[in-house]
Amino acid sequence: RAYNFNAGPAAVPLPVLEQAQKELVNFKNTGMSVMELSHRSKEYEEVHNRAITLLRELMNIPDTYEVLFLQGGGSLQFSMIPMNFLQEGKTAHYILSGAWSEKALKEAKDFGETRVLASSKDANYTHIPTDYSLEDIKDGAYLHITTNNTIYGTQWNEYPTSPIPLIADMSSDILFKEIDVEKFSLIYAGAQKNLGPSGVTVVIIKKDFLETARTNVPTMLSYSTYAENNSLYNTPPTFAIYMLSLVLEWVKEQGGVKSIQKNNEEKAKYIYDAIDNSEGFYKAHATEDSRSLMNITFTLPNEELTKKFLQEAKERQFIGLAGHRSVGGCRASTYNAVPKEACEALANFMTEFKNQN
Ligand code: PLP
Repeated sequence: RAYNFNAGPAAVPLPVLEQAQKELVNFKNTGMSVMELSHRSKEYEEVHNRAITLLRELMNIPDTYEVLFLQGGGSLQFSMIPMNFLQEGKTAHYILSGAWSEKALKEAKDFGETRVLASSKDANYTHIPTDYSLEDIKDGAYLHITTNNTIYGTQWNEYPTSPIPLIADMSSDILFKEIDVEKFSLIYAGAQKNLGPSGVTVVIIKKDFLETARTNVPTMLSYSTYAENNSLYNTPPTFAIYMLSLVLEWVKEQGGVKSIQKNNEEKAKYIYDAIDNSEGFYKAHATEDSRSLMNITFTLPNEELTKKFLQEAKERQFIGLAGHRSVGGCRASTYNAVPKEACEALANFMTEFKNQN
């Protein structure tokens, strides 16, 4: 298999793929594939509820929160959040740390008052902004942050203790380390980076926050619809949820989120060390205090060398290393499912390439 450093959809653990392959045609002696089961069947319901139970267990999600499965990706959440929670007369506060936070803000503007509490755009999003005060947002509807900036390779270390409901886009770093869910009123993540294939979006929402949602919202865009029907109001993305449940079983087998976190720290260290020990050949895009453990962004001395690097990397089966056009250079996405050996091999290749060029 290739060393898959894609930013998303991204690597899925090999044992998960093998399990899915084994069960693809005949799931647990039903004589059918999971994707052929009725979403009202006992067999599917077990898969569905197992995914919820596992996520609750792994993230230590209290009973005061709902775990929901939606469609529409992280992008639909950008609209659903203000649609449900930006009440008239209130302001939604956004901290801009990258292109995805900008997109989230853009959608909110259609529904009410918004304010950019802080932004690192002027620095081409090389760091998580810190120049803000939470004092003056007391009457706000909510505060929105993006915990990991997939394109720029920056990540929050510590989350703000917000006086108003804190909402987080964790699309590219959910489950990468142990977090305190109770700091947040709503967490959302498209599955296709740390949780499995695309097609399902996970929402973790505090029940008392959900109660404050607007009621004049289309049925399928209202969080209550999902909460009241165990995310089974209409046909959910059953196969994606099945894959999610297998990924969560895998996380559990690895020793839970704590072990995953340790692994992620070691994986990222290989690559950041290769950058830091390259005598300036590789330059990290992110400032040191904001470096992401999930997306490692770096540049080479010039365009020609970048092209050569990407070509040689591809020949050695390192896939998905081209950076996003707004940053240039390279990006290695080291999500939970990327094995340590892949990161070690990449770091060795980077050093070898630098020595030869
Ligand atoms: N938020 C972040 C942080 C992302 O990285 C992405 C996609 O890469 C999105 C949102 C958009 O997600 P989707 O493609 O599922 O709509």
